[in-house]
Amino acid sequence: MSETEYVTPQPVPCNECPAGMMHARLITYFTWMGDELITVPHFPAWVCDVCGKREYDEKAISWLTMLLSPDAGRPTHRHRKPHLPRPRTGPAHAAPES
Ligand SMILES: [Zn+2]
Repeated sequence: MSETEYVTPQPVPCNECPAGMMHARLITYFTWMGDELITVPHFPAWVCDVCGKREYDEKAISWLTMLLSPDAGRPTHRHRKPHLPRPRTGPAHAAPES
C-alpha cells in the first residue's frame, strides 16, 4: 500500500447519544486471534466525543480481517496439544509382596 494523504472525514452524529459527534481518530485496535492478542496501532476508528463510543472503520476492519485470515496468511498448522494420559509414577508405597 502506498502512502496516501489521509483526508479527515467530517464528524458524524453519534447513534448512541443525542449530542455526541463521532470523530475520525487513529486508535490502537485490539483483537484476539485464537490465543494471541493482536494490537494494531494507528487504526482508523470513529470515537464519540461525548459518550466515547468507538466504531472501527469498516474498510480497515475488512482489511485487517483479510490480513489475519488463515487463508491469506502463512499456512502454518496450529495443532493442539494432544491430550496425554496422566503418566503413572509408580506406586507411592511400595508394598513388599509376601
Ligand atoms: Zn456518543
